Amino acid sequence: MSEPKAENIVWHQGELAHAERCRLLNARGCTLWFTGLSGSGKSTIASALEAELVRRGVFAYRLDGDNVRHGLNANLGFSAGDREENIRRIGEVAKLFADAGVIAITSFISPYRADRAKVRALHEAAGLPFLEVFVNTPIEVCEARDPKGLYKKARAGEIKGFTGIDDPYEAPESPEIELLTAEKSVEASVARLLGSLADAGYLIGE
Ligand code: ADP
Repeated sequence: MSEPKAENIVWHQGELAHAERCRLLNARGCTLWFTGLSGSGKSTIASALEAELVRRGVFAYRLDGDNVRHGLNANLGFSAGDREENIRRIGEVAKLFADAGVIAITSFISPYRADRAKVRALHEAAGLPFLEVFVNTPIEVCEARDPKGLYKKARAGEIKGFTGIDDPYEAPESPEIELLTAEKSVEASVARLLGSLADAGYLIGE
């Protein structure tokens, strides 16, 4: 966790503790952190899950990698330092959503294990649940899908530092949930996630 740059700032404790807020709102916040290669299916599954949760009356909100890079993180590129800052910021935002009682669903490649560990630690320090969802799709499958044509560009040398081609992807060692999209449909992955959320008691708004 980074230390604030500013001095003379003091944390202001609100009147509501997290548990009390969730009880009053009949909600239960957590962060579902999707990680996986480009084209692995993070955005597709995350948005299908978000829609299904909201249809069921569960507070859920998706933070998408490319979308966030259009706004909050518009000043960041894909260098190792910028990737780290990208994940740090989104980790902080996801934590705020989870604290507010929302199921925050993030879909970022988030290729580096250390960065994901920092976001997990941030949540744990705040007593907020963090579930890592590994969208485990072989690179050959991602490359064959190539929904945005990015692998083609990376192979042609038009994109430098592309995860899985000339920048590493460090797979999670013990994710809470693993989705094998080369074998399971989007619907099956969403059903699996809903089952895990229900089992862990997160679907109380339903
Ligand atoms: P990411 O967000 O990980 O970069 P996307 O969701 O943008 O990936 O793209 C994944 C692509 O793979 C989409 O075009 C999606 O329709 C396709 N796809 C095919 N089969 C699956 C599956 N079983 N699960 C998820 N996505 C799939």
